[in-house]
Formats: sequence, structure tokens, C-alpha cells
Amino acid sequence: MDLTGLTGAILAYGEICDHCLGRMVGKRSFGLTNDQRGGALRISYFLVRNEPYRGHEGICWICQDFFEAIDEWADRVVSALKDIEFGTFLIGTRIPPLMAESEEMVWSDLTLSHAEPLKSEINREVGKAVSEKTGKEADLAHPDIVALLEPLSGTVEVQVKSVFFSGRYRKLERGIPQTHWHCRICRGKGCERCGFTGKQYQDSVEELIGRPAIGLFSAKGAVLHGAGREDIDARMIGTGRPFIMEMVSPNRRTIDLRKLEEAINEGAGGRVEVSLERWSRREDVETIKSDKAHKKYRILVEIEDLLSLSELQSALEALKGVTIEQRTPQRVAHRRADKIRERKVLDITYVGSKDDGFVLEVTGEAGLYIKELISGDHGRTRPSLAEILGRPVRVSCLDVIQVDSREEE
Ligand SMILES: [Zn+2]
Ligand SMILES: [Zn+2]
Repeated sequence: MDLTGLTGAILAYGEICDHCLGRMVGKRSFGLTNDQRGGALRISYFLVRNEPYRGHEGICWICQDFFEAIDEWADRVVSALKDIEFGTFLIGTRIPPLMAESEEMVWSDLTLSHAEPLKSEINREVGKAVSEKTGKEADLAHPDIVALLEPLSGTVEVQVKSVFFSGRYRKLERGIPQTHWHCRICRGKGCERCGFTGKQYQDSVEELIGRPAIGLFSAKGAVLHGAGREDIDARMIGTGRPFIMEMVSPNRRTIDLRKLEEAINEGAGGRVEVSLERWSRREDVETIKSDKAHKKYRILVEIEDLLSLSELQSALEALKGVTIEQRTPQRVAHRRADKIRERKVLDITYVGSKDDGFVLEVTGEAGLYIKELISGDHGRTRPSLAEILGRPVRVSCLDVIQVDSREEE
């Protein structure tokens, strides 16, 4: 079918605007916008047939004359973004199914393979208008903001993309979980046991870092992504643990990292300390979560009836470089699959004695359960310090002192 024949076939469906007419052959490159192309097709159709010209009258059966309201939609977007800081944006549209079905019917009836969908023209045209009004750029890959147009209700839904920053945290106080736990009794709803907070512990590393940050970013929430986690009763000192903080739905995005760091450290009151390193992106979260870094711990162990220090030291020698078989520890068995895993003890050394026990430093592969390496966990971890010494041994205190960074790899 030639273009005139095709134009006639499309016009036969009913009243159609130049945008929708032009889009039917949209991906053929004419160097024109859809409405220019549609207008040209219409003119040449009447010229070739030597009939009096008739322009678009009435209401377009496909888009309901959406394109006459482009400026109005752009104003709605601008007003929806009024109090939100953003550098780049993206326009999306929830095309009502009836509109999409209308044009798809024409595509398939006339076997059109170069048509452009209504959705992409709306997104592009509203995007251009918003760009002119705000001076901001559209960004398809990493927009700060997505504005979703809802033609049926005439409203705009704004999705603000998260902001991420990364650094290391040190946890200087025991008894703080890394992320917030729901109250075991009410599961977060709030009850007498938890003082109607819904929380098992009143604070977490996530909240201690997140609370001051939420204020600065004027965000809806903060989610901590850590490179592994320490036990509640372990401190995280020394090098600190790498983390990425995700600020959910922030109204502000450009914050000075040094000021942010100060605000967090001041707000956390010495219980947690952070040093911030850089801005990050969502892709970095996967990397940090899969971190296989070696961890170094300092532990205090109690040993029943130890004969001599040299007995302890030769037992430590026997563990150095050894691969340990660990069945999932009893203390976590209720929330992790029961399996046996192998992890290596890279180093284990005696560093001193205290009234209440011996201080050791242990470096292990990621995932080595330290308390069980010492106690043996009733034979579930083998070999263990208790097994080698042939007497009960337990960890009474544990700190993480080093988490190797693998960001370079
Ligand atoms: Zn139309
Ligand atoms: Zn509760």
C-alpha cells in the first residue's frame, strides 16, 4: 500500500489527530515530528485525490486530543515536583488500556511495522516541555525523579529515587543490633512489652546512622546495607565495617558529606561512629552485600582448669590454617538452614591474659562462626579449641576489629 492509500485507510477509522496519524509511520525517518508528519500525510492525501482539504476536527479517537494538553501536563509535573530537589527526571505514562488497544488494532489491521506507541510520544513531548520549564534534563537510565502521568485521573505520581552514600561504621557499645528488629511478641504492631514501639531493641546501627540522615535529606526512611553483620553483643571496632546507606524518597539530594558525617556522629552520641567515603549507587549494594571479606576478631575466652599457657598456645597452633567444619550453630538454627559448611581459620593468636580469661585474636574466612570455633557447639563444630584442649571453653566477649575491604576487586 502506498502512503496515500495507507493514509486513507487510517482516516477511515474515524477522527484522528496529526500526532496519532504521524505516529502510525513514526519510525520511518522523515526528519519530522509526528504531528508535522501527520499533517503532511493529510495534505498530500487530499492533494493526490484532488479533494478539498479537511483538517482534524472533533476529538481524536485514539488519544482523545491528549497532545493539546501537553503544556497543562507539564505544569502539573512541575507543581508536583515543587518541593523536591532533583537534577534529572524521567516521564512515564500509565496509558489507559483502551487507548493502547485502539492503536494496536490499527497496527495489526494494516500490518504497520514502523508505528511508534502513544506512550513514547507522550513521555517525550511532556518531557521536552518539563525540561523547558525547569531547565533540568531528562535521563532515561538514572533519573533522580520519575513522574508518572495518569491520563484517566489527570494526576501525576512522583517517585523519588533513593540516594546512597557509603562509608564504614564502628559500633562502640554492645547490645545494639545492626538493623531494627520487630518486637517478638507483637511483630512490629506495638504492645506493652515493647512500650508500643514495635521494636525488640530501642536502637539499631541502622537507626542511629539513619535518624540524623533522614532529617538532612528530608527522606521517608533509611535502609542500612552492611558488608556482613556482627552479633548484637559484639562491638565493631578497629577499621569499622563497610556499609551503604540508602535514603528512601529524599526531598533533598545534595548534602555535604562532611556535614552529614558530623551530624550522624553527633546524633549517635558515641554509641556508633561513622566515617563517610563517597556517594554510591543501587548497583553497589549487591557488591557490598556479597562481600567475602576476611574478618578479624578479638575475643575473651574462659577455659575451665587450664593447666598452662603453653598448653593453650599449642592448641592455637593446631587450629592455625585449619579448615573447620561447622554445622549451623544451635543459637541461629531456628532462622537458618541446617547445613555443614567449611571455613578456614587464617590466624589465631594469644595476645594477653585478664582476670576473667584469655584474650585471643582470630582472623577467619567470611562466615566462620567464632563462638563455635571456640566452644565446639556440642560437637557441631570440628575441630574446636574445646575439643583440642579436652575441656569446656567459651567466649565471654567478642569484638570485630577488622573487616578487609574488597572494593578494589
Ligand atoms: Zn490523537
Ligand atoms: Zn511489641
